[in-house]
Amino acid sequence: MNDQLLNFYAEQLSALKASHNHRQLQRLKHQGQRIGVNDSKPLLNLASNDYLGIASQTSLYEEFLELLHEQRWPFSASSSRLLTGNFENFERLETKMASLFGRPCLLFNSGYHANIGILPAICDDKTVILADKLVHASIIDGMQLAAKHGTKTIRYQHQNLPQLEGLIQKYQSDNGICRIIVVTESIFSMDGDITNLSHLSHLKAQYPKVMLYVDEAHAIGVRGGRGLGCVEEYGVINQVDFIVGAFGKALASVGGYCICHPILRDYLINKMRPLIFSTALPPINIAWSCFILEQIPLMNQRRKHLMKLSDDLSKVVHLAKLPCPSASQIIPIILGDNTRTLNAAADLGRQGYHVLAVRPPTVPKGQSRLRICLNSAINDDTMTKFTQVLTQIVSSESK
Ligand SMILES: *Cc1c(COP(=O)(O)O)cnc(C)c1O
Repeated sequence: MNDQLLNFYAEQLSALKASHNHRQLQRLKHQGQRIGVNDSKPLLNLASNDYLGIASQTSLYEEFLELLHEQRWPFSASSSRLLTGNFENFERLETKMASLFGRPCLLFNSGYHANIGILPAICDDKTVILADKLVHASIIDGMQLAAKHGTKTIRYQHQNLPQLEGLIQKYQSDNGICRIIVVTESIFSMDGDITNLSHLSHLKAQYPKVMLYVDEAHAIGVRGGRGLGCVEEYGVINQVDFIVGAFGKALASVGGYCICHPILRDYLINKMRPLIFSTALPPINIAWSCFILEQIPLMNQRRKHLMKLSDDLSKVVHLAKLPCPSASQIIPIILGDNTRTLNAAADLGRQGYHVLAVRPPTVPKGQSRLRICLNSAINDDTMTKFTQVLTQIVSSESK
C-alpha cells in the first residue's frame, strides 16, 4: 500500500488523539471479580456487564463442564441455521425461552445482529420508526439500514413520552404511513434509567398502527420475578411486539434473542439477513446458554441483593448532590468535566477499583461521568468501603 493511502487514515487517528478521543485495547487480566489493567494490581471490576456475577463464578462453570462428559457439543455450527447449522440445542434454547415468556423466541448471533437485522427486515417505505434519542449504536445502525429502503426514522428526546405521543398522533393520521414502530431500551446503558413500559403499552393500546420494540440487553436476568426483564416487572410481556435482548451480559454467555408473534418469527427467518447469511453460534455456547437459563429464574436472591446495592449507591450519589437518573445497577456519577472525570477514575484505580470514565461523544458534552456497573457478587462490606472511597474522591474532584 502506498503511503498516501495510509496517510488518509493516519491523519484521522491523529485528529482523534488530538481531541483525546483515541481508543485503545487494554491488556486485561481477569481473576474472578477482579481485573488487572495494563499490568496494574488486580482491581475490583465495576465496569462489567456480568450483573449476576455468573461469569466470574467458577462453580457453575465446573458444573457445566461435568455435563459435557455426557454430551459433547461442537465448537462450530459450520453454517447458518438455514443451511446445516441448526443443531438440536438451538431449538431447545428457543423452547425454554418460549416457555418462560409464553411466546415464541428466535435466537441470533448477538444483540447487535438482532438490532441491525430485525429493524430493516420489518420496515418499508410506509413505516416510521420513532426511537429514543439515547438508544444503543446497534439500533441506530438498524435504523440507518431501514432508512435505505425508505423508512422514515425519527428520534424523540430521551424519555420524552409526551413528545413521542405527539409524533404517534401525527403518523397515526398520516395515510402514507401504515406502521409506527416505537423503539426504546428498557434500562438505558449510560444513564441506567428505565422506560415506563406501562405508559408505552398504554399508548400502543390507543393507536392501532403502533408496534413496540424494546431492547432489554441490560434488563434480562436482572429484573422481574423470574429474571425475564423489565417486561416481566411491568407485566407487559404480551404487549411488547418485539422483546429483544442479549445473552452476553447478565446471562454470561453470547447471543441475541427476540420474543415475538409466531408470524413475525417465521417472517424474520425468511427476511432477516444477519440470521440467514452468518454462521450460527457454536453449539457449545448454546449448551451453556441453556444451562444458565435454567438457573436464571432461581436467582431471586442475587436480583434482590443487586437491587439493594444499586439503591444504596444511588443514595450516596444523591447525598453528594449530583444528578442521579439511575433506577438500576448502572449508576453514572456525572461530574461534567472531562479532566475531573478522568482524574476521579484514576484515583479510584489507585484505591483498587476499576471504574470507566465515559466522555463525549459517547455521552453529551458537559456530561462526562464515571459509569459504575454493579453486580450481585459484591458483598456489603466491599460496597461500604467502596462508597466511602468514592465519596471522598468525588468531593475532592468536584472542588
Ligand atoms: C450490549 C447491547 C447490545 C448488543 O448486544 P451484543 O450481544 O453484545 O451484541 C444491544 N443493545 C443494547 C442496549 C446493548 O446494551
